[in-house]
Amino acid sequence: MCKNHFNPIHCIIPPYMIKKLMESGNKKIADKAINTNFRNYRFRNDRIFFHNSSLKEKRILGVIAKQVGKEVLQMKVYDCKQKTDLAGATLLWDSKNNQKITSLAGKNVIKGGKASWDFYWQLFGRNSIDNNGLLIKQYVHFDKGMDNAYWDGRRMVYGDGDGTVFTSFTIDIDIIGHELTHGVMENEANLDYENQAGALNESFSDIFGIMIKQRFNNQDVKKSNWLIGERVMIGPKYALRSLKAPGTAYLNHPELGNDPQPATMDKYQNLPNTSAGDWGGVHINSGITNFAFYVAAYNMGGYAWDKTGRIWYAVLTDVKLTQNAKFADVKNLTIVNAEKIYGINSPEVKAVKQGWAEAKV
Ligand SMILES: [Zn+2]
Repeated sequence: MCKNHFNPIHCIIPPYMIKKLMESGNKKIADKAINTNFRNYRFRNDRIFFHNSSLKEKRILGVIAKQVGKEVLQMKVYDCKQKTDLAGATLLWDSKNNQKITSLAGKNVIKGGKASWDFYWQLFGRNSIDNNGLLIKQYVHFDKGMDNAYWDGRRMVYGDGDGTVFTSFTIDIDIIGHELTHGVMENEANLDYENQAGALNESFSDIFGIMIKQRFNNQDVKKSNWLIGERVMIGPKYALRSLKAPGTAYLNHPELGNDPQPATMDKYQNLPNTSAGDWGGVHINSGITNFAFYVAAYNMGGYAWDKTGRIWYAVLTDVKLTQNAKFADVKNLTIVNAEKIYGINSPEVKAVKQGWAEAKV
């Protein structure tokens, strides 16, 4: 189960975007990006540490719940006050007393955390990240102008953004849902964060992140724009990723250039398993499996979480989904689970097959 080799952190902003910002001609942007890059290393080490702990240690560290928790949302929000000391952060909000707060970032993560917990509980009967009532911990205002949000193995941490390319990472519900889903993933298949398994790990987070946003905003498959991070990236034409049209989320961005995501398997990018290679393109090739989900959901119609989401959740929690799964494994598992839920030759199975066919997997 535990891996001794390199285990990167789970963050929303991929290394290739940070690298571009580090090379920016705008010194303010470059300085913030260099600092963000430095933080990435620290969170990566934390994640390896939590990941390799024993069950008993995980309970003590709060990586998993100490005992079966109550079936209600338990969440705490902390303010790092632009410092980098998580242990020294101030408690801003606690679901136990639900006090009123004025912090906008705090309000954002409470809203997104609630929407995510409700999504998993009300649709799938899942009680929090570990399905055991784990207290959800969220930290806002981490560092000065950090360009990222992380799942570090036991909590979610959000930067305020550099103010030019990115604003607060708490602003998009789909980012909060994305990070929380990394936690769910860690408690289920725990897909390796490299190559195809890593791209699937990223894709599950994007898919559940977008559904959490769609459900919060009551958007069906036609009404949704299928964009991840449409508000965190400053400028009306820019978003981090598009599930509907991977590779078009941002074009000709003055600092970031073009969205590099492929939508189909023939454009799969074989990248090195290094930070510069985005661990084999985990944030790049995820466009392919994101697109398969989008086509399947669109063809089924209605709300994505009703049918397509049910199938993908069945796969996420299927014991047959192994840590080093490839795209073809998930394709087969979505078909098998769709057949189990809706019947062989059902329109739902056809829609799933169509999704994978259009993504050329
Ligand atoms: Zn991620």
